[in-house]
Amino acid sequence: MGKIIKTGIFNGFARVTFIDVTDVVNEEIKIHDLSPLCAAALGRTLSAGAYIGANLKAASDTFSLTVTGDGPIGGVVVAGGPGNIRGYVNESRVDLPPRADGHLDVGGGIGKGYLTVVKDLGLKDPYVGRCELVTGEIAEDFAKYLLVSEGVRSAVALGVRVNADGCIAAGGIIAEALPGITEDMLVILEDVMTNFGSVTDVLQEKSIEEIYDFYFSHLDGEIYATEKVDLVCNCSEERIVNLIKSLGKKECDEIIAEQGKIEAVCHFCEKRYAFGKEEVDALWRE
Ligand SMILES: [Zn+2]
Repeated sequence: MGKIIKTGIFNGFARVTFIDVTDVVNEEIKIHDLSPLCAAALGRTLSAGAYIGANLKAASDTFSLTVTGDGPIGGVVVAGGPGNIRGYVNESRVDLPPRADGHLDVGGGIGKGYLTVVKDLGLKDPYVGRCELVTGEIAEDFAKYLLVSEGVRSAVALGVRVNADGCIAAGGIIAEALPGITEDMLVILEDVMTNFGSVTDVLQEKSIEEIYDFYFSHLDGEIYATEKVDLVCNCSEERIVNLIKSLGKKECDEIIAEQGKIEAVCHFCEKRYAFGKEEVDALWRE
């Protein structure tokens, strides 16, 4: 289970969100057999996604966060809603030499490309925000998205640490300046955020509660809410059936003739769905 703590500092003139998705990343490593680099790319994107999900209003609201690039990982997709999240990478076993500072080269794995957020808020059209990637390291890219698409000035620190046993820390800290914040407050906030240049070290040492207590609570801080976020996939036989129906009878008959069955695999949870000739024929009789 992941955890999110929503707080305010400076009596509410800045919002700081703390995200811990260590358990979620460990589950994802098992599901997708992720290399350490891919676990880092997915874990950072899951952290940003958990923030988006936690800020949706209605339980039925959903979002997707997609990072696509020309690097060897190809793309990272995260989706979910309030309290639930799931994700995958296009290429799960990519490995690159570490960067000069010893960190995993997520930017090299992603490359140049775009970050896209889609939110389905139950309105006629979904909200779509998109920006060009800055570094492909995800944190800077997400901060740019927040500024360009949502008009939010923020500092975003995201990090994932993986060792031979799996993920030992994954999450982040997202600080937002709200209207009315003073220059003095901004200087203090920027100064505090410099502690998270290597946020992974901090996440490994301290729980997110401890990070809030240690670095933020004395700045007129208040905890607004503590929420959980679980790895949940929403795929179902019904969804796959609708997908198969959308192919049309002719296409389905051709696949059955060639392969004897129609198989589909969920990208998010890798569950395999298979339908034989009898089952597919029955779809058209319904
Ligand atoms: Zn699934």
